[in-house]
Amino acid sequence: MNISIVIPVYNEEKNIIILYKLLKSVLSKYQYEMIFVDDGSVDNTSSVIKDISKKDKKVKLISFQRNYGKSDALSAGFDNAKGDIIITLDGDLQDNPKEIPRFIEKLNQGYDLVVGWKFKRKDPLTKIIPSKFFNLLTSFLTKVKIHDMNCGFKAYKKEVIKNINVYGELHRYIPAMAFWRGYKIGEIKVKHYPRRYGKSKYGVNRLFKGLMDLITVKFLMSYGRRPLHLFGLTGLLCFFLGIVSGLYLTYLWFKGIVIGDRPLLMLAVLLIVLGVQFISLGLLGDMIISENKERNYIIKK
Ligand code: UDP
Ligand code: MG
Repeated sequence: MNISIVIPVYNEEKNIIILYKLLKSVLSKYQYEMIFVDDGSVDNTSSVIKDISKKDKKVKLISFQRNYGKSDALSAGFDNAKGDIIITLDGDLQDNPKEIPRFIEKLNQGYDLVVGWKFKRKDPLTKIIPSKFFNLLTSFLTKVKIHDMNCGFKAYKKEVIKNINVYGELHRYIPAMAFWRGYKIGEIKVKHYPRRYGKSKYGVNRLFKGLMDLITVKFLMSYGRRPLHLFGLTGLLCFFLGIVSGLYLTYLWFKGIVIGDRPLLMLAVLLIVLGVQFISLGLLGDMIISENKERNYIIKK
């Protein structure tokens, strides 16, 4: 069984060598490759990895032209991974490679994706509290019952990564996307460590981005293949209410009552216009999807 370790790194020069040594000692009993994806670091991260890869052929380096973000870094790692099992972990030593065998064990119990749960997370409270909130909201909306969606430490069977598309900042919701495709998701508690060297790359603006991505994931999961069902229903409802109010006002007008100053008139017009717009939006969405020749289903056997 081959294992690919994928490590996204952005300005982690001081962490690389320590991480490499730890990984190497843990992985000695496996067949493996280590793929470092340098996400446009501006420190010595790239050259440190290059030096290691010259001596150790199992170490590979993918270097981005600029900083594209963790999702793209993971995606590049996935595209190049040759293993049957793919393990991702953060490059900042907050995850301990010693846990890797436990992940593999759990995969072998029949899970397709195993997600780490940073039990007793060692990060500032400003990070822990919003993250708790997001995890609750995400598991409520997506019905995936895991505690720590965004843990960097995960293990995948290769089918899973072949069938999910990670872009933007959707890496936070990989378990939700995998679950939606019918894969079996497991969870194990992992120990988490404070960052020793370097800085965290995420500030408060990730809250906003995280929320937008959650909306995207929820939409794609529920209506990604049939947008008209969402927009069409809302549109018809608006349109119907608009027409009814309009007819009512018309009736009053025929009875000789002045309707030009009625707020209801404005509402009726607004609802009809909105309704037409929603329906057109849904139809546009459906047109785009009908152009997409990709199969939506995954065959198990
Ligand atoms: N990372 C990356 N590209 C980025 C930001 C982060 O590859 O644009 C990497 C980073 O080097 C680390 C991992 O993603 O290995 C997690 O980042 P970080 O530790 O900053 O996140 P936190 O643990 O603070 O949530
Ligand atoms: Mg970190």
